[in-house]
Amino acid sequence: MPDAAARFRQEYERLNHDVYRGTLPAFPGVEVVDRKDIFSMTRTHGAGPWRVLRPFLLSAHVQGDLLLEAARHEVAHAAALLFDEDEDHGPAWQEHARRCGARQIATLDDGDPLRKDWPA
Ligand SMILES: [Zn+2]
Repeated sequence: MPDAAARFRQEYERLNHDVYRGTLPAFPGVEVVDRKDIFSMTRTHGAGPWRVLRPFLLSAHVQGDLLLEAARHEVAHAAALLFDEDEDHGPAWQEHARRCGARQIATLDDGDPLRKDWPA
């Protein structure tokens, strides 16, 4: 059973191949962090044609179905940042989220089934 970082990477590479035809950068890595204020985060450096994808952040508490949703959500951010300069959950991000199979909403409400294993 691959660990969370390996599964995140697997989903990034699957989407890069199947959805983006290899146009996303090589997987930048993922840093697993002990945080409960985020599930995951996409980071880049620079802007425009100089924008570079940095390692993703992934909370150590993300597991199960939430992990796949988090990976798809972040791949959509990476694509929106790199291809569309969309730094938020705007129309470009929403379209990438749709293509990646992520939910087109930015947050998960309390009581959402994907939050069932999230520490209180
Ligand atoms: Zn987001």
